Amino acid sequence: MSRVNLVGLLPAELEDLAVGLGASRYRGRQLATWIFRKSVFDLEAMTDLPKDFRAALAERAVVEVLEPERLTPSQDGSQKLVFALHGGSRISSVLMPDDDRMTLCVSTQAGCGFACAFCLTGVMGLERNLTAAEIVGQVLAANRLLEGEGRRATHIVFMGMGEPLANYAALVKSLRILTDAKLGVAYSPRRLTVSTVGLVPGIEKLGREDLKVNLAISLHATTDDVRSRLMPVNRSFDLAALMAAVGRYPLASRQRVFFEYVMLEDVNDTADDARRLARLLRGLKAKVNLIPFNDWEGAKFRRPPLARILSFQSVLLDAGITTTVRWSKGEDIGAACGQLRESPALASVSESG
Ligand code: SAH
Repeated sequence: MSRVNLVGLLPAELEDLAVGLGASRYRGRQLATWIFRKSVFDLEAMTDLPKDFRAALAERAVVEVLEPERLTPSQDGSQKLVFALHGGSRISSVLMPDDDRMTLCVSTQAGCGFACAFCLTGVMGLERNLTAAEIVGQVLAANRLLEGEGRRATHIVFMGMGEPLANYAALVKSLRILTDAKLGVAYSPRRLTVSTVGLVPGIEKLGREDLKVNLAISLHATTDDVRSRLMPVNRSFDLAALMAAVGRYPLASRQRVFFEYVMLEDVNDTADDARRLARLLRGLKAKVNLIPFNDWEGAKFRRPPLARILSFQSVLLDAGITTTVRWSKGEDIGAACGQLRESPALASVSESG
């Protein structure tokens, strides 16, 4: 019999579970507090829970937080955490310090099925969706690691392996656990950013959840022709449909939608592209992040020269669009945008589940 992992349950579900075990909802709230607020994952250490409740719980449930199998520090201060999952897949998260910020980049799938031409994760194909416990687990594992330095992740970006909106239910559940201010991990939704290849129905659904998290769109091209070549998903949801959905995403007064634009030499980096991009974004509350292409073995693209990147940026700035060049962190350790690929842990395929 497989036991439920409490790390992937909403506080309300923990309350229901407590009731199901003959205890009061209050016991569920205590559980949520221990796990999400105090980062205590050992049932034995939850000393204010009655012994018989703990015993009943232990038969039905586990508190299992992902353990990093490997930690790889980068020259630039960022750090890659690799996790071996049940079933043999491996995923990674990346911690990126920046002044008083500590951004954690989490994965939502092992591999990815969207096959963007410039992305190494795409080469893996989709292995499987992560569970909510595995998504939240990456955050708890990273925070446990940082605890020693008296820090914790201040911002969480759903920009690791996988397409968040293609694993919708687990994504939304993890967002609710992470943003529940009373009994969850209590992140402000404005510190969480979900990035998508542009799944229009998912964007619309997310907008209706009232989660208030930030939305990032991996745009990468300004014509359907180029975008469809780079990102096959554009053949299902073209630029017009995508931009219309983004325009309807609910934003708070000072909130903006982020647009990621990977810069690929002679593919999408001309002044015409920049002008088209400015036109596409007209009327939207948008911020553009230009990501100079990160190379990987076998890639068919190149990073444009710096001057080209900067003149692209200045066209957008002149059009009044906030635009930054985002130099990826962790390039030396295979942790930069588009470089996340882990091989399956074949040896542990049949380990306990
Ligand atoms: N699937 C989601 C979440 C991943 S975010 C999405 O695509 O939005 C990772 C970001 O890195 C995406 O914007 C992706 O397009 C970008 N990226 C992928 N490969 C890259 C590369 N080689 N160099 C720079 N950015 C890359």
